[in-house]
Amino acid sequence: MTSLMHIGIIGGGQLGRMLALAGYPLGFTFRCIEPAANSPMGQVAPQILAPYDDAAGLAELARDADVITYEFENVPVHTARQLAQRVPVYPPPQALEVSQDRWHEKSFFRQHDIPTPAFAQVNHAGDLAAAIEQIGGLPCVLKTRRLGYDGKGQWVLRSVADVAAAGDELRQQPAATGYIVEAWVPFARELSILAVRGTTGELAFYPLTENTHREGILRLSIVPAARAPEALAQTYAARVLNALNYVGVLAIEFFERIDGDGHAQLIANEMAPRVHNSGHWTQDGAATSQFENHLRAITGLPLGATDVRGGDRGHAAMVNLIGTTPAPSAILKIPDAHLHLYGKAARPGRKLGHINMVADTAHSLHERIVLVQAALT
Ligand code: AMP
Repeated sequence: MTSLMHIGIIGGGQLGRMLALAGYPLGFTFRCIEPAANSPMGQVAPQILAPYDDAAGLAELARDADVITYEFENVPVHTARQLAQRVPVYPPPQALEVSQDRWHEKSFFRQHDIPTPAFAQVNHAGDLAAAIEQIGGLPCVLKTRRLGYDGKGQWVLRSVADVAAAGDELRQQPAATGYIVEAWVPFARELSILAVRGTTGELAFYPLTENTHREGILRLSIVPAARAPEALAQTYAARVLNALNYVGVLAIEFFERIDGDGHAQLIANEMAPRVHNSGHWTQDGAATSQFENHLRAITGLPLGATDVRGGDRGHAAMVNLIGTTPAPSAILKIPDAHLHLYGKAARPGRKLGHINMVADTAHSLHERIVLVQAALT
């Protein structure tokens, strides 16, 4: 493969946009398939205006593509498999299959000796009480098996009244909707690892990122996470990457707990077979961004260094812009703050952009985060 490749992307959201922007300096060209007009990626690359599983649209995407990738995990698996007969599709469709369904995903983690919260299947409202007992009782979280993201399709159950209300809710839903319940994890922190595997099996890992969510949506990422169990996270990520013969960037989100001996435990929550919001800091804060490394991986190029810029002294953070965007000048006057906007119309709860910050010390990074957060209120 040469570096002058044409890359097809299924999905036209901000992740596709940032992949394209990272790939142009390497001489790559792009096209996406996306049903929404004027999409974030469609503003920076040609767009095929069609549903993700439209046969004619996908044939057009595949016709001149050297490789196809995707920027969200709900691409139909059969679509990805059919495409893979014509042109390489990375990450492999099996990674989609595992990550699209929380039951398969958690079962997969367990098969590979990666801890998860206790979990059980719930097929209908009548299963709920027994499933909750099986995982050790309340509190717990009820989640749809498929299509949940940013806290959507989730209910935290703390009391018998919550369980009864959830049962009523389930009875209103289509009979085929599957659910899981999982034990509530009283975590110390939420950490994620961004890992990359190339076509030769080469592996690279970004340092663990500490993430803060509100209302199920990522708000803030900070790196490096102090005293984080990097080696353990890398061991788990390598197991997943190698088991799936994976190519590209993979994110795994963990809950961290500290046991009675002071040792950190990582409990896997979920994984995303794509570039991930908790890796956006890499655009300004790492030697090579997650977007460039994903493209290097899927085109057979050597992977780039994953160190935080500034070496051992480097620190980086990302703040998401949810629902509204600030006046650019209010952000850009803050030292080493970088604004990334996605070209989306404002709507409550919608991810519209993010701000990356870099600094030489944890203290000055914190000061910059405070300045950015003040500019957003
Ligand atoms: P998810 O969509 O599974 O990533 O969940 C969104 C957020 O809800 C997570 O990032 C956590 O903050 C919280 N959450 C989800 N599941 C659990 C759990 N089992 N225990 C504690 N918090 C959870």
